[in-house]
Amino acid sequence: MTVDLSSLRIVNGTVLTMTADSQPIGDGIVCADGGLISYAGPADAAPEPSGERTIDASDCVVLPGLVNAHTHLAMTLFRGYADDMALQTWLEDWIWPAEMRLTPDDVYWGSLLGTCEMLRAGVTCFNDMYHMPEQTVRAAIDGGIRACPSGVLLGFLPNAQELFEEAIAFVGELRREAHPRVHPMLAPHAIYTCPDELLVKVGEAAANLEVPIHIHLSETASEVQDSYDDRGQSPVEHLNSLGLLDLPVLAVHCVHLSKNDIAILAEKQTGIAHCPSSNMKLASGFAPVTALLAAGAVVGLGTDGCASNNNLDLLEEVHLAALLEKGYSGNPTALPAPLALTMATRLSARALGLSDVIGTLEPGKHADIIIVDMTGVHLQPPRDPVSHLVYAARSADVITTIVGGEVVMDDGEILTVDEAEIITRATECADHLLLG
Ligand SMILES: [Zn+2]
Repeated sequence: MTVDLSSLRIVNGTVLTMTADSQPIGDGIVCADGGLISYAGPADAAPEPSGERTIDASDCVVLPGLVNAHTHLAMTLFRGYADDMALQTWLEDWIWPAEMRLTPDDVYWGSLLGTCEMLRAGVTCFNDMYHMPEQTVRAAIDGGIRACPSGVLLGFLPNAQELFEEAIAFVGELRREAHPRVHPMLAPHAIYTCPDELLVKVGEAAANLEVPIHIHLSETASEVQDSYDDRGQSPVEHLNSLGLLDLPVLAVHCVHLSKNDIAILAEKQTGIAHCPSSNMKLASGFAPVTALLAAGAVVGLGTDGCASNNNLDLLEEVHLAALLEKGYSGNPTALPAPLALTMATRLSARALGLSDVIGTLEPGKHADIIIVDMTGVHLQPPRDPVSHLVYAARSADVITTIVGGEVVMDDGEILTVDEAEIITRATECADHLLLG
């Protein structure tokens, strides 16, 4: 019998489908065929083997790949470069001057470094906002990860109009190519860096191109205060008054929100990327995650870029989100483990407009799957796998990562790219950028 490598059968594992109200399946099987999931459920109801590649997941948990709802991937090159300072100082005095020296090679190698880091951490999809996004796409395709790329639009730059036109062309080209693992967006940086005229034009273009908008929103208290001072509206109210929240939007941070803001975001089903590490590192504040979820808002999880985190470890964000919510609310029942894990899978996928594509293990969805080894001493004794994943596991426990049915990390080895070369090249890029 010949083995069909485009088909997979993952056996003997505990399966978490992450569908609504699902329970762990003790002896589960996940099958994939032609890049799509064909079965996820108990072994005794699974279809008969038909010569596909079999992966033994004994003592492992099998779940959907984690979805990083917000990052700036090539900022891996700035990891550890400018820590412990205020957001505006950090951006204006350190990051933006260094970014003036960025070359396409820098973005490519920085993005590949981040791709390897995410595949190792069980992240199978990321939502990106960065310069030269065509290089990020190249890196994502070479590394075998799913990407939602967008170029960042900054209205104050002298070439803002040119960047806008490039972004439209970039999205149009990707829409025509229809790569199954690339889902482009348009990304105005924030309301305080993009004038209303540009935001409205982005809204029109996003509607025409049928892509979501990716924007930072209500990150800091000063951003919100400035918005009230300038226009008597919160940033959320302002974006809504421009009509943008009638479109699919992924709003990043949403830390400082009024009751009315929360009601608007829930009613419009705006996707939200909660980034707990970044919010803590930059002392931005605490996002009202429990209130948002209670109102019915769609809240996923993101790492943000490596300069404000300083890693791309989404499992760490799951852990932090669950703890942070309890710590600042004074309520130990806030954001329980199953909900925290749901944010990094099903809810992040929905926030990105990809709920039909990824986020759960269900027949017909793309086969983005991770296998987590539960034999580590820090995971003993075996108990509820969701509790262990949220409160005790480490991303290094992820041993196998599958994207669109392709095994991209197999038993701890990245198969798609040469990690040693990437580390060398990315280090050279960082040196030239930072020593400039
Ligand atoms: Zn960001």
